[in-house]
Amino acid sequence: MAMWLPRLFVALCLASGLSPGFSFGQAAPARAQDRIRVVTTTTDLRSLTEAVGGDLIDAVSLVPANFDAEEYQPKPQDVLRLKNARLVVRVGLDYDLWFDRLLEAAAMRELGRGGPGYVDASLGIAPLEVRGVAIGPGDGHAHGSGNPHYWLDPKNAEFITASILAGLARIDPANAMTYEANRQAFVARLAAKLAEWETRLAPLRSMPLIAYHNSWPYFARRFRLDFADFLEIKSGVPPTPSHLAGIIQTMRTRGVRIVVREPHEPERDLAFVAVKTGASVAVLAASVGALPDTGDYLSLFETNLGQVTDDSLEKIREDLGDCQRCKLCSTRTHIVFGSGNAQARLVFVGEAPGADEDAQGLPFVGRAGQLLTKIIESISLTRQEVYICNVIKCRPPNNRFPEKDEIATCSPFLVRQLEAISPKVICCLGAAAAQTILKTKSSVGWIRGRFQDYRGAKLIVTYHPAYLLRNPDAKRVVWEDMKRIKALLDAL
Ligand code: SF4
Repeated sequence: MAMWLPRLFVALCLASGLSPGFSFGQAAPARAQDRIRVVTTTTDLRSLTEAVGGDLIDAVSLVPANFDAEEYQPKPQDVLRLKNARLVVRVGLDYDLWFDRLLEAAAMRELGRGGPGYVDASLGIAPLEVRGVAIGPGDGHAHGSGNPHYWLDPKNAEFITASILAGLARIDPANAMTYEANRQAFVARLAAKLAEWETRLAPLRSMPLIAYHNSWPYFARRFRLDFADFLEIKSGVPPTPSHLAGIIQTMRTRGVRIVVREPHEPERDLAFVAVKTGASVAVLAASVGALPDTGDYLSLFETNLGQVTDDSLEKIREDLGDCQRCKLCSTRTHIVFGSGNAQARLVFVGEAPGADEDAQGLPFVGRAGQLLTKIIESISLTRQEVYICNVIKCRPPNNRFPEKDEIATCSPFLVRQLEAISPKVICCLGAAAAQTILKTKSSVGWIRGRFQDYRGAKLIVTYHPAYLLRNPDAKRVVWEDMKRIKALLDAL
């Protein structure tokens, strides 16, 4: 990319019949009245145009950050803005179709398609989701030209800024080298950030997500995310109750724990599916300025990454609230969320609270809990150093085994707890924990005693302390498992 862009730029200047009369030094800051006026359709393009144009240009965007750009209705003052502009930059791919009407109204030949002041930023972008069939009236926002949200792949900013650079060089060849230098500096900053973002999002790779609107295919492809479904039935068509029921089913089946909403999208339906499934809602900005701290193109991604990666035990507990998601809410005294070190290297996962735990709201505080304390201390750790929780957070009546629907409803909170803590080792105490986390039907006797990989951690299964109280002979094998855990923790 870096090699051919300068050549492309020179070729574009020559093709336009312009002499690249470059000034090789840094251009002096332009006076306000001398700056080149640029109109972009979106805030993202304005930010990228500013990255290339620096203080030689004055860019305005037409669509407010928190507005659906496809629904924008141009205003009379937009015509005036075009009248004063020397360059326009649009998204293209049928995203800002209204801009054609505006260009017609402004009647500025040099800003129209093919004119020197016209930039379609989608030039050079490989569109995703190109449809090979006709678009009908019931297809909502469907785009025959492909999904238009290409700026949400930060790598595509290289192409977008190349098109902007070519446009600025056409209308202001004297400052072409300054624009080129600005762009090179921006692309270098972007490359460094992109490497950092890929590392931060690596733990979410292939993890299923749900979004309200399909704005994210380019973002998902770049960071290897998996958007399993969308609340809109079709692009721009809101969900029906049966569609929401299907989404909830998909989320439970696939273990979706994050649902994505853009700030201007309706909250109610996403909150509904999140509450039903224990997922968290991440509000992501699809445009610069749509959320606080998204004032430019790079900070847009910084903020969005924070939204999807920053889960915490406090937030999970807050999302759990006074949970009424399954029938166990009617018989519990307290929700038993978990206790211990939020940065623990070792997490113990049991089955469900018993009578003592239900009364106190703390995990493993009865007889089995006292035995667990001894087990933890046998490997030179304390309860304060580890984290202890259960698959389900409310006591089943008479300490019965949790039922399938209860586990399905409550276990997403456990998955989030494990990801928020990100321990080195997870020790499953008993069958419920092992079968839920590993999605297996194997017995403890079959799978205990060896480490398995679980989302970057090592997981081992052993017997539940309550089982040891009934079967003291099994303490010997639990001791063997604890020695394995200690050796692994010492080695890490
Ligand atoms: S067991 Fe879990 S899902 Fe059911 S009511 Fe308690 S906290 Fe909610």
